[in-house]
Amino acid sequence: MVNSQELFERAKKVIPGGVNSPVRAFKAVNSNPLFISRAKGSKIYDVEETEYIDYVGSWGPMILGHNNEAILKSVEKAICNGLSFGAPVEAEVQIAELITEMVPGIEMVRMVNSGTEAVMSAIRLARGFTKRDKIIKFEGCYHGHSDSMLVKAGSGVLTAGVPDSMGVPKNVAADTLTAIYNDIASVEKLFAENKNEISAVIIEPVAANMGVIAPKEDFLRELSALCKRNGTLLIFDEVITGFRLAKGGAQEYFGVSADIVTYGKIIGGGMPVGAYAGRREIMECVAPVGGVYQAGTLSGNPVAMAAGLAQLEILRSNEQVYKHINAMAKILGDGIELLAQKYNVPANINRVGSLLCVFFAESVVTNYAEAKKSDTVAYAKYFKSMLKKGIYLAPSQFEAMFVSSAHSEDDIKNTLNAIEGTFMEMSK
Ligand code: PMP
Repeated sequence: MVNSQELFERAKKVIPGGVNSPVRAFKAVNSNPLFISRAKGSKIYDVEETEYIDYVGSWGPMILGHNNEAILKSVEKAICNGLSFGAPVEAEVQIAELITEMVPGIEMVRMVNSGTEAVMSAIRLARGFTKRDKIIKFEGCYHGHSDSMLVKAGSGVLTAGVPDSMGVPKNVAADTLTAIYNDIASVEKLFAENKNEISAVIIEPVAANMGVIAPKEDFLRELSALCKRNGTLLIFDEVITGFRLAKGGAQEYFGVSADIVTYGKIIGGGMPVGAYAGRREIMECVAPVGGVYQAGTLSGNPVAMAAGLAQLEILRSNEQVYKHINAMAKILGDGIELLAQKYNVPANINRVGSLLCVFFAESVVTNYAEAKKSDTVAYAKYFKSMLKKGIYLAPSQFEAMFVSSAHSEDDIKNTLNAIEGTFMEMSK
């Protein structure tokens, strides 16, 4: 039988760092990645057949758990008809209709192949629509790896300690201004200093790439008003929050509307999909109707659309999914909090809906600077101990825990037992 260690050694010889995405390396927790062979429901199995309860969920899309039957059937059916045509298919229309029906304020959708592509295209669209170049993003928010978004970014770039990537031209980075999450004054200051120059403000409505951080009461509403006053578009990057916080994503959950919304993996049900969407007036600036060019050979791929459609259809007609994932995440979050108190472990739990983060921090985390103060050595200990106990967590302090509809009360109980054992070890 192959094992993860051998595969990793082979991988390192032919793939940079042995992984095709840095967040998969277990570098920040001083370990080597597990190679996965299969997954079902809430469980994931490595090549040695060890079973884990999975809280990564492919970094978000597995909201219905792994290998959902309806999605699998839909994909199987599509595969039989061909893998790609480079021509329109019915499923593209159906998924765009479904998204416009489920999400308030969205009239048109353009499918792409990843979250990175969605954001990159949305930024170009905002610049084209407003005829302005500058963008505001927030420190610690991650919006994929396009040049203009690799400025004070979160996720793997934050984990690796290189929030500003090498290789990004200075003049490109110069048009990306950064504000402080949850600090409206920091945004107002940038607007005042760059009058009539800001095309868009992009934000993760719940920050989920520097751990999980909720927006403070009214922060998103104030941001929206500020954008309106300045003729600037507000982009919600809902790669993580879309169809997870609610059917209508963060716009519905917080009652704040954005001008452009970006989506990723969750609308592909595990296939490589992304999308950007918004009002007709804005979206009709995109080619071939308008002058903002964006294209893709595999965009709207029939197999990917089949997976996404099946997932979104379940989410549309099944309020129970949201009730379940939020309830499970609440039991988990409350349970961890009690255990942290019991064993005197300085852990702060942030939770929004089914997104959670255990920050090894002395006080509540509300922004990037505070997130960076957390004890990553303690996180590494926690991660390793949990893995030994059969719980698969993100290998970094700066990522989210994702709860799916396949996580049962038993899974949560077993996870809390593992956390109790881990906190007991950590408090010694
Ligand atoms: N935006 C956000 C909020 C994300 O979390 C991510 C990835 N996790 C991206 C964009 C980029 O998506 P992708 O990895 O599909 O390019």
